[in-house]
Amino acid sequence: MNWLVSILNFMPSLRYTVTPENLFRQEILALHAYHVQPASGMVKLDAMENPYHLPQEVRDEIAQLVADAAINRYPDPGAHQLKIGIGKMTNLPTGMDILLGNGSDEIIQLLAMAVAKPGAVLLSVEPSFVMYKMIAAFVGMKYVGVPLAEGFSLDLQAMLDAIKREQPALVFLAYPNNPTGNAFDADAIKQIILTTPGLVVVDEAYYAFARDSFVPLLADYDNLLVMRTFSKLGMAGLRLGFLAGAPAWLEQLEKLRLPYNVGVLPQIVGAKLLEHHDILLAQAECIKQERVKLFAAISGLMEVKVFPSEANFILFRVARATMVFEGLKQRGVLIKNLNGGHPALSDCLRVTVGTAEENQKFIAALQETIRVSL
Ligand SMILES: *Cc1c(COP(=O)(O)O)cnc(C)c1O
Repeated sequence: MNWLVSILNFMPSLRYTVTPENLFRQEILALHAYHVQPASGMVKLDAMENPYHLPQEVRDEIAQLVADAAINRYPDPGAHQLKIGIGKMTNLPTGMDILLGNGSDEIIQLLAMAVAKPGAVLLSVEPSFVMYKMIAAFVGMKYVGVPLAEGFSLDLQAMLDAIKREQPALVFLAYPNNPTGNAFDADAIKQIILTTPGLVVVDEAYYAFARDSFVPLLADYDNLLVMRTFSKLGMAGLRLGFLAGAPAWLEQLEKLRLPYNVGVLPQIVGAKLLEHHDILLAQAECIKQERVKLFAAISGLMEVKVFPSEANFILFRVARATMVFEGLKQRGVLIKNLNGGHPALSDCLRVTVGTAEENQKFIAALQETIRVSL
């Protein structure tokens, strides 16, 4: 056969042409790229970012650190300084350890790569964070999404049945959940942890806005890991996430982590910001207060159903959501349109809690859009 290939290669017209379609895996070709909307000049309430700026003194400190940073050197692969900061602010139970990711998205991918034996299952709920399903496809895992019950609560029986049937290697539960905003029942999650033959990862991306955490329970369950990100707390641009859990798990995952996944600048700036964790938590507190006001304002509108939230965003349902979304955009306010995605989210929109001023602009634009479209 080799001689045939050689001859064909000398005859360009006969040469087998390589294309993405015939070279790439079918799972990848079938994916839709994660879409980020253009936002310049808009009131940006689409991505759960912290809207507040840092105090000038902190910005000056950061400027000095960046000026002095050894960006000609590779970063500390162990990110010791940053890990110490995280350990302190997380109140990590003794004996537990931390693995750092370039955002928590990267940690989801590390976990999936580690367990992706042929036929291995990644299980989550629906609707939830879309990256669980996407990353399952990236690594060739089977994905199972168990529908949430009324009011987006966990359907515990359906979960336990699915876990017994599918024997998942990896279960992801966002706590609070994105895009619904509610936190699931903690006792139900504990039953899921006990029933799952593989790892259960509680994704606490919104911990700063929530009432409860699984970090203190890490030592109680040997198949529990807790994942967090600093993105929603005001560091989305730094790309810093971490996984907390028993060293036995993290040591293995460390082998898969690319050695310099967290750069010099995110390490030093992240560590500095954690020294000022109180400032960020105070900002989160403002966001929680604004959330209450925003919830009341949306609830006051005609024909709108609002879902309770323990995160820094609010999900609501409105007639002709896509028209409303477009109307908001025309008025300079960008939120997230979830209509047309998961059936349980038909006519749903998600708005990030912004500053008082941004929220007022959003409410005014929403009122006007609804009035015009009636
Ligand atoms: C935003 C989000 C993440 C990802 O955060 P990054 O650290 O920015 O990658 C993970 N999980 C949930 C539930 C999120 O909403």
